[in-house]
Amino acid sequence: MPTTEHIYDVLALAAHRDDVEQSCGGTLLRMAQKGARTAILDLTRGEAGTRGTAAEREAEATEAAKILRVESRQALDLPDGNVTVTWENKLKIAAVIRALRPRVVIVPYWQARHPDHAAAGTLGYEACFTAGLGKVELRDEKGTALAPYRPFKIIYSSLYADVRPSFVVDITEFIEQRLQSLLAYKSQYGNQSAGAGLFVPEEEIRERTFALARYYGLLAGVRYAEPFVQKEVGLVDDLRQVPVQSI
Ligand SMILES: [Zn+2]
Repeated sequence: MPTTEHIYDVLALAAHRDDVEQSCGGTLLRMAQKGARTAILDLTRGEAGTRGTAAEREAEATEAAKILRVESRQALDLPDGNVTVTWENKLKIAAVIRALRPRVVIVPYWQARHPDHAAAGTLGYEACFTAGLGKVELRDEKGTALAPYRPFKIIYSSLYADVRPSFVVDITEFIEQRLQSLLAYKSQYGNQSAGAGLFVPEEEIRERTFALARYYGLLAGVRYAEPFVQKEVGLVDDLRQVPVQSI
């Protein structure tokens, strides 16, 4: 029987450094403001990127994590551009889940244009399952055995998926800070000429990310929001407290 006592409140898992900033950074900020302990796990280190080295990206990711008020951020060494659902990869992620013991795990929606994003969604879910298997032995870097643990809740960030979200999180208060976390990736998003056809200048990023957040906000009657999908049904205690106006 896996233990249920959590250490972190929310772990956001994604394929690439800067994915979390784009898809659920505002939600992490909102959770931090509520006093929640938050963490990020990037599955790759960005070695295949057109711009910037993996070392530059690590420094940028650390800076972005500070802006998002995240307590812990780490990156695994899955191959950038070739994230696949394998037992070995599930074990790597499961070890992190056992070490951090998050109550909630945010993973990418399971269908995506970028194969790494779709794979990260499936891998993340299956790794949460694997982490709870008592017969799977996993150790941390110091060789200490990690106790089986399974997160309570898994939700899917669906910003770039063409699906209707189950719910959105109001990030109005954090929209500027979320943008700053993305712009911390100077090697990716700075106004520079190298790879100019592929990368967009700051003003374009601002407009694009704000427009998407505005769209999801409008669905729920708030200014800016981030969308999520949950596979489970919602559970209501008091009909008078159900949010989002109907007419
Ligand atoms: Zn990505």
